[in-house]
Amino acid sequence: MTERPSEPDPPEPEIDEPDAGIPLEPVEIEPPPPPVVRTAPAAACRTCGYNVEGLLIDGRCPECGFPIQRTLAADVLANSSPEYLAALHTGAVAVLTSIILMIVIGVTAFIVTIAITMPTGDVPPHWLTIVSAMLQLPISLLLVWGWWRLSTPDPAYTGRDDGSTARRVVRVMLVIAGAAAVCRAAVSLFPQTNVFVLTGAGIGVVAFIAFAVRYFAEMLYLQWLTPRIPDQTAYKQARLLIWLGPVLFVVLALCFYIGPLIALILYCLLIDTVRRDLKAIRAAM
Ligand SMILES: [Zn+2]
Repeated sequence: MTERPSEPDPPEPEIDEPDAGIPLEPVEIEPPPPPVVRTAPAAACRTCGYNVEGLLIDGRCPECGFPIQRTLAADVLANSSPEYLAALHTGAVAVLTSIILMIVIGVTAFIVTIAITMPTGDVPPHWLTIVSAMLQLPISLLLVWGWWRLSTPDPAYTGRDDGSTARRVVRVMLVIAGAAAVCRAAVSLFPQTNVFVLTGAGIGVVAFIAFAVRYFAEMLYLQWLTPRIPDQTAYKQARLLIWLGPVLFVVLALCFYIGPLIALILYCLLIDTVRRDLKAIRAAM
């Protein structure tokens, strides 16, 4: 057995001698650095809007359990709540579906009208007006519902420009569009006397003005939404369509409706781009 090397004796602790006479300098002991506690600045939870100020950054919202780190992250849609993204995505799908159905109904009604009126030269029968209006009503309401979802406010958005003006204008115009669709369907049920024909035309004018105002508001809203995807291409499309759409609609309407058709296709492509972006973001979550 080898002897363990003797360890040096620990130094004797210095004992203050109370009778030393000379006061000792107080020894400054560095306190150990406190553990870094990172707390959140004032911010609304992305899911429920709860103010997470002062809470631990690594923690979760006490109201809904959403991670606070994601609330504080850069304001891209990937950091938004799944519910909000689901609302936008289903809204875009509903808008596109309703437009496709509207085209199908419109073309079918046109062909049926020609087929019925061509041999006799009569005006279209009243039942055709009723059937057409009753088929258009749910599709119009689907479009209203779709854009209502697509213009859902983000409960977590804390940026300075929250896109609320354009978004609210879209929603007010949607209410008018929905009411106009119901009124138009109701008016179609009555015998087509002058009073009801004029009422229907008046509703049509109101609906068109609401549609025109909503179109500009939609494009402004998409210019706010698309940077959050972020999708620079869709943003540029929205900036282009805000003036190109009306130009195509009005100027080229004289050329066998080709202008409005091109405008409609470009509009659908833009909504479809946003839809695919939202689908991809949701799939990556
Ligand atoms: Zn919350």
